[in-house]
Amino acid sequence: MIRINENFNALQGSYLFYETGKRVKEFQQKNPDIRVIKLGIGDVTEPLSPSIIAGLKEAVSEMGVRETFQGYPPYEGYEFLRNIICETDFRARGINISPGEIFVSTGAKEDTANIQELFSGDIKLAITDPVYPVYVDSNIMAGRNKIEYLPCNAESNFLPGLPSEDADLIYLCFPNNPTGQAIDRAGLKKWVDYARQKKAVILFDAAYESYIREEGIPHSIYEIDGAEEVAIEFRSLSKAAGFTGTRCSYTVIPDKLMAPDKSGVRHSLNKLWLRRQSTKSNGVAYIIQKGAYGYFTEKGRLENMKIVDYYLENASIIGRGIAALGLNYCGGVNSPYIWCSVPEGLNSWQFFDELLSRCNIAGTPGSGFGSCGEGYFRLTGFGKRQDINEAVERLVKFK
Ligand code: PLP
Repeated sequence: MIRINENFNALQGSYLFYETGKRVKEFQQKNPDIRVIKLGIGDVTEPLSPSIIAGLKEAVSEMGVRETFQGYPPYEGYEFLRNIICETDFRARGINISPGEIFVSTGAKEDTANIQELFSGDIKLAITDPVYPVYVDSNIMAGRNKIEYLPCNAESNFLPGLPSEDADLIYLCFPNNPTGQAIDRAGLKKWVDYARQKKAVILFDAAYESYIREEGIPHSIYEIDGAEEVAIEFRSLSKAAGFTGTRCSYTVIPDKLMAPDKSGVRHSLNKLWLRRQSTKSNGVAYIIQKGAYGYFTEKGRLENMKIVDYYLENASIIGRGIAALGLNYCGGVNSPYIWCSVPEGLNSWQFFDELLSRCNIAGTPGSGFGSCGEGYFRLTGFGKRQDINEAVERLVKFK
């Protein structure tokens, strides 16, 4: 008789954004005349930029001509895209990453969820709390339960301390979702040194790299000496180039990154990932990769820098609105997220419901990102300026 994977029973009831979406929908059904401003789910609102559209259009035409038609793409991504990624995201910053170390993918969500397949089932994990839920859930689905949560709260300036027990696999995300906090070079070096000492691997999610505006904040973990021996980095075009619906990302697995099997034989994680990807995926569409190429051109980068600036300005407007309510917050500087404390006497979900019913604003309750997120709330700078301004005006009703 068929039986399910029992690990699913260990997951929390439903995916966070499914639950918030459900509550918003119910509210809207009961109040059809009210317009809810959605500052909850981190989805972009500005259209794709002209350079990306030009790349997509060109590829669509090429696909209609026998000579330029493309079948299955290479598993690792087209060389034209991996080359320009290396140039713009790494060599331009003095980091030596080669195209063979880049794997183009459909999303950082997929890759951060799937990467755990490379590692043994009994390893110890260190995961920040609050956290992007995918890291935890993907490990629970795989049956892992040795997880040390690293609290990130006001006392720790929303940065994780080193694990108390030796960790084997460490998940870091900077600039962080949900807290919006960024990490400086010294802070990140501490983690690279730790991983080198403990023979651990760091999974560094840099999905929000393009929001970094302050000096002294590393754009890549490979800016830190020795990181290429201990870290995998994830990048995404979702928030950098409006690709949430178009889907393209990439993962860097340096050739120097090795991990042993139980007999102590060391294996290249780059080769293992290629083996995994070539078994389970048929790559990313040519049309999408041509659109992504448009983003990496100089013109494309400039166009998208302006869009990211727009979201950052939105976030700082929300931050000012939150501060006017007397609530503390962090984020919004190198990140589209504002992470604020909830008013006294309310928990995160109560604040969600109150904000929805009194101000008609949908946010995300911090407790959905982990137990240390209780008492906090996430608002995003993704949205039209008019809506952001209106949301800030509506916030006054909370006073
Ligand atoms: N990593 C983090 C921290 C995110 O916040 C998100 C999206 O919200 C992702 C990864 C997913 O990115 P993608 O759209 O490339 O799957």
